[in-house]
Amino acid sequence: MKYAPADTRYDHPGFYRKCGRWGLNLPTVSLGLWHNFGGVDDLETGRAMVHRAFDLGITHFDLANNYGPPPGSAEETLGRILKQDLREYRDELIISTKAGYLMWPGPYGEWGSRKYLLASLDQSLRRMGLEYVDIFYSHRPDPSTPLEETMGAVAQAVRAGKALYAGISNYKADDTKRAARMLRDMGAPCLIHQARYSMFDRWVEDGLLETLGEEGAGCIAFSPLAQGLLTEKYLHGIPQGSRASKPHGFLRPAQVTPEKLARVSRLSALAAARGQTLAQLALAWVLRKPQMTSVLIGASSLAQIEENVKTLERLSFTDDELKAIEAILAPGA
Ligand code: NDP
Repeated sequence: MKYAPADTRYDHPGFYRKCGRWGLNLPTVSLGLWHNFGGVDDLETGRAMVHRAFDLGITHFDLANNYGPPPGSAEETLGRILKQDLREYRDELIISTKAGYLMWPGPYGEWGSRKYLLASLDQSLRRMGLEYVDIFYSHRPDPSTPLEETMGAVAQAVRAGKALYAGISNYKADDTKRAARMLRDMGAPCLIHQARYSMFDRWVEDGLLETLGEEGAGCIAFSPLAQGLLTEKYLHGIPQGSRASKPHGFLRPAQVTPEKLARVSRLSALAAARGQTLAQLALAWVLRKPQMTSVLIGASSLAQIEENVKTLERLSFTDDELKAIEAILAPGA
């Protein structure tokens, strides 16, 4: 059946946030296709999730060359969905991709050389059937390639019209500053930094967010639910079909520790007292930072997307709530 997006998709005031000082707005909740959209996954479930997301106003879908498994297959999945259902809505969508991790054998299939980045972007465009992506990221810093070469390739992609904006991911604060300066000088300013940030991983608070504020770049937080750990799902064991149960899931059972679950249990009680689920509390907590443009969630069902978008109904925290969260997250607590 032909998909027709909901007429109500833009009926949420305040759902979009400016990306740093730039003109681009992103939805406060964006959808990533790292897991659950690969060749091993059910295409119709993925398709239904993209539809539901778009119906709810999620205009931003995040990919990378290597998402799958197998690598490349998440881009192919999105390409199918775009062709089948969303072609006429291309101008309402922000599609990002990245290059940095292993994609093909030999010396040119990963990291940060100009050779790799530009070839990879061409491959991504072919897989998705797109003429351009909205954001092209260097997925990780490459210690053995000069930063000017990597940033030069990202800027070249923008100048060639194959990407509208430049982004970086997983760069520390000092490299972010240097990268932003280079990109600005090359006429393709850094729109956004994609960084891991959740209650269980707070490295961005140690300088990166401040740097992004100074540079006027946005920040999009990946794994804001710590891959599902910051929900109630693992409180009674590892459920069948969850990310930690899958052989290709990046969350390993060993990461689901009693120490983490004890904190999850206390956070869950705090969320309930606020009238939220733990997932909603965890997303709202990430979004409390003024530099944060969007939380980049993953999902395996429509219900998860719906629940996570409802985070917007309760974003603010009292000082007492923030203190209680700090106490739960404190080392040794
Ligand atoms: P999350 O922390 O949001 O984890 C997503 C998983 O959490 C889902 O697959 C689901 O697990 C579970 N989940 C989500 N919502 C709920 C809910 N309401 N209730 C219960 N469980 C829920 O993010 P990801 O780790 O998936 O990362 C998101 C995106 O970030 C990726 O798709 C990718 O685009 C990007 N990313 C970028 C990286 C980078 O280096 N730049 C690295 C990693 C990710 P389950 O499948 O078990 O149901």
